[in-house]
Amino acid sequence: SPVCIIVLGMAGSGKTTFTRSLIQHAQKEFNPYVVNLDPACREVPYATHVDIRDTVNYREVMKQYQLGPNGGIVTALNMFTTKMAQFAELVRRAGERGHKWCVIDTPGQIEVFTWSASGNIITEGLATMFPTIVVYVMDVVRSACPTTFMSNMLYACSILYKTRLPFLVALNKIDLQDCSFVLDWMTDFETFQEALEQEQSFVSNLTRTMSLTLDTFYENLSTCGVSAKTGVGFAQLLKKILDCVTQYEQDYKPVYEKMR
Ligand code: GDP
Ligand code: MG
Repeated sequence: SPVCIIVLGMAGSGKTTFTRSLIQHAQKEFNPYVVNLDPACREVPYATHVDIRDTVNYREVMKQYQLGPNGGIVTALNMFTTKMAQFAELVRRAGERGHKWCVIDTPGQIEVFTWSASGNIITEGLATMFPTIVVYVMDVVRSACPTTFMSNMLYACSILYKTRLPFLVALNKIDLQDCSFVLDWMTDFETFQEALEQEQSFVSNLTRTMSLTLDTFYENLSTCGVSAKTGVGFAQLLKKILDCVTQYEQDYKPVYEKMR
């Protein structure tokens, strides 16, 4: 059955651009089945097999239920999720037709997916049926500030523990900024502390304490620098995805099989 790759990340981190690059690079070997779950995006820069916009008209939903943009997205996702069984069946059949991967792009605002019932149902539904991994896209330019970096990492951490799925962090936009500072911050506590020193505030005290806790989290992470725009780093990323799949088979599959 196909490997499901759920692409998550903050708004503007580059999920959609990343999805486009990922399917390009994986085309030959993995023939990805492509799913767009963002009801609100105007145009999708890649060809899709399943597009939430075909099943739900987000603008109509907003109008009909008198909702704002976020409410509209959540409701559209809820409507899509009522057809979860059919969706899972489509993915299963795609696997039979030779699609080795299924790549899933998610709504711009991350919390719509990670903190909604629908997001849970979709993630758990896929994870119980197929090898499933999460790729967390992180904007390295925006994460250059230590407190922003820490917030982003805490968010990633909460998703890791919530989904309990193999987790790969794609450090995106390395065409604009080198990502080695992130790797330094993650492997060398002192370096991160030094960066924090220059940012004296209450938040930095809080961050200092939390960064100690994140050490164990970092050990469970794999990271890869990429540019979704130029395609740099994707050869390496594909290898790391395969490592995550192996990890799923070894550590996660037994757990999810019990939940079935
Ligand atoms: P999403 O909201 O997470 O789906 O983010 P998008 O894929 O829509 O990207 C947000 C913005 O970041 C767009 O203007 C993209 O062109 C830009 N972007 C995405 N990836 C990269 C990258 O690797 N390098 C650069 N320079 N810009 C990028
Ligand atoms: Mg997007």
